[in-house]
Amino acid sequence: MEKILIVDDSILQAAQLKSILEDEYEITTAHTAQEGLRLASSGDYSLVLLDVVMPGMDGFTLLKKLQEEIITQSIPVILITSLKDIENEQHGLILGAVDYITKPFHPLIIKARVNTHIKLYKYRRQIELQSMTDQLTGIANRRKYEDYSITKWNEAIRLRVPFTICMFDIDRFKVYNDTFGHPAGDKVIAATAATAAAHLKRSTDFLARYGGEEFIALLMGDSSQKAFAQLIKIRKKIEDLHIPHDPSVSQWVTVSIGGVTVIPQRENSYASYLKIADTMLYDAKKGGRNRVIWADEKMNQLYEKRRRTNGAQTTKSILTS
Ligand code: GH3
Ligand code: MG
Ligand code: MG
Repeated sequence: MEKILIVDDSILQAAQLKSILEDEYEITTAHTAQEGLRLASSGDYSLVLLDVVMPGMDGFTLLKKLQEEIITQSIPVILITSLKDIENEQHGLILGAVDYITKPFHPLIIKARVNTHIKLYKYRRQIELQSMTDQLTGIANRRKYEDYSITKWNEAIRLRVPFTICMFDIDRFKVYNDTFGHPAGDKVIAATAATAAAHLKRSTDFLARYGGEEFIALLMGDSSQKAFAQLIKIRKKIEDLHIPHDPSVSQWVTVSIGGVTVIPQRENSYASYLKIADTMLYDAKKGGRNRVIWADEKMNQLYEKRRRTNGAQTTKSILTS
């Protein structure tokens, strides 16, 4: 059920609006603009019904504040007021209200207008989500990554927490496509993304498709040791899918992974650390593929050493720094 926030100092009027809409929507009411602002900041609402005349902060001021915050600026606001004059209506629409309803109102009009704006909002959200999602894998696409990486990098600087940038690339994938065909290759890309995504599920984990058969993961708050160990686990899980590769290349489909963990400072640029992750990936490829190489907080390199034991089948990872 979509959530609607009603902000109205009149308890009676808020209750009346609620009774009109509560069959179809989950309604929360606030009786001051301050409370309305606090509730709206959760980002949970799909529509705000806002009374213009209120003691203290009025509806126009609240509308302005909602428009200024990233979390609330896209929530549609319908103004409700007894002010009938055209200037107020104009003022509200210029400030960014999507609609304007004057009192006394008719329940059917309220319902119809609310339904329309909720429908438009849901449609817009869906389009936005689609434009940020990679079609093949269902994970974030490059565009989403570009937004997210800079926002989170700055957040890590502010909070002084470790930030991890990590790049994956499927090994010898050109050969895979040449041997098994492009549609089979697409399935491998999707399976690789799904496996990595299944192990990056915390709200602070992020995974995107960076390019054709390349992925990028961003983690917040983990030390290099922890992030390194986590990515070794993911690399193994992908190998353990046991997707046959072209035997001339390797037994199974595998990935190489390069990462860097840093506690970023204001003077550090995201791009320079992305470059380090890319260099680690390059080293993992050069070192024989199907391995993880990391740069830690002190810019020491951590290697996942691959040692064959017991014939050719089993491999073991040893952490060294
Ligand atoms: P390396 O181990 O060095 O990464 O070798 P590679 O063959 O994986 O590297 P290269 O970058 O030469 O080739 C990547 C291949 O990925 C080439 C391209 O055909 C394939 N590829 C890129 N995007 C897609 C895609 O969306 N679907 C499929 N099936 N293949 C793709
Ligand atoms: Mg590649
Ligand atoms: Mg590759």
